[in-house]
Amino acid sequence: MNIHEYQAKDVLRAFGTPVPRGKVAFTVDEAVAAAKELGGPIWVVKAQIHAGGRGKGGGVKVVRSLDDVKREAERMLGMTLVTHQTGPAGRIVRRLYIEEGSDIGSELYLSALVDRATSRVAFIASTEGGMDIEHVAKVSPEKILTFQIDPVVGYSGYVGRTIAASLNLAGEQAKQLGAVINSLYSAFVAKDMSLLEINPLVVTKSGQVICLDAKINFDDNALYRHKDLQELRDPEEEDPMEREAAKFDLSYIKLDGSIGCMVNGAGLAMATMDIIQHYGAAPANFLDVGGGASREKVTAALKIILSDPAVKGVLVNIFGGIMRCDIIAEGIVAAARDVKLSVPVVVRLEGTNVQQGKDILANSGLPVVTGNDLADGAEKIVRLVKGN
Ligand code: GDP
Ligand code: MN
Repeated sequence: MNIHEYQAKDVLRAFGTPVPRGKVAFTVDEAVAAAKELGGPIWVVKAQIHAGGRGKGGGVKVVRSLDDVKREAERMLGMTLVTHQTGPAGRIVRRLYIEEGSDIGSELYLSALVDRATSRVAFIASTEGGMDIEHVAKVSPEKILTFQIDPVVGYSGYVGRTIAASLNLAGEQAKQLGAVINSLYSAFVAKDMSLLEINPLVVTKSGQVICLDAKINFDDNALYRHKDLQELRDPEEEDPMEREAAKFDLSYIKLDGSIGCMVNGAGLAMATMDIIQHYGAAPANFLDVGGGASREKVTAALKIILSDPAVKGVLVNIFGGIMRCDIIAEGIVAAARDVKLSVPVVVRLEGTNVQQGKDILANSGLPVVTGNDLADGAEKIVRLVKGN
């Protein structure tokens, strides 16, 4: 789960991380009131959306008067902000963060994530802060350094000094950076984060090390342990289809291809996506209906897939183990009754109650094509979608 920058800064502040003072605003009046309360004389008006690159897209403005706070708030609220992370459709700005302005001396990059290769939390640091880190990774990968944290030891002064040295910080700033990393590590572990990105981490002209931006992603599987974090969810920032899928406890991820996939088991879902690619098309989604799915869940899954206008065909690939093929067939028939089936559907069933499942589909009168095995099913749906 992602949260907004202002929420991320609140979370970090509670761990002692230095972040500028600021207030969230949902209206222009609230923005001006927040600015008055902060006092100025310099403010930053920041659009709150779950995507980075806001600065370049006109979503971050440094201003020097209350009139300008008002003008920028009027301009940003309701605007569609397009950044390299939002895609061309952009995101509508519904919240602003009004922050006290910082006098930037230098901009650095710092993030923490779970490094799967080492099963540890790793910090990533770069002197190239404030810009698109993906671009830095492409043109000067040697400027991005990784530091593993030993979970038994946790944060240590040694880690802080090593990272400080890599960022060319010494003396008082190195000491401050150590405290920043210590607080970030504590927050990361305590709140079950999967990603924490500070870009930029700045050293101000007066020598303070502060986090000027903050992006946090929490591990969904650990969210049940954090009632306080669940409340930070902003449904308006989430994909409506993924939101609907979450209601039915379906693992659904929207992708940008044209073939909808309904599969049981994450591994089989991955294989299905691969084989669709192999036959020359691309999957429109990842969807794992899970082990013992009910007919209602299967129906919901197919409806979600079909509600995506990018879907030009559907491949159902079920290996019935715990999941029974007749349940799947009933779910397909029920969904097809509720929504008009306007795209071709290929179904490959195998395993428990396969014959009952095939009979249900055959007797339904639905224009469903049978795939004899995974390769046959994938080849058929790709051919149908491509119209040959
Ligand atoms: P992003 O573009 O979505 O990553 O938004 P950021 O919060 O990182 O802001 C983008 C850029 O705006 C930063 O890299 C800074 O250069 C600039 N910026 C943000 N806050 C301040 C501030 O308080 N003072 C100054 N001078 N610049 C700021
Ligand atoms: Mn940033």
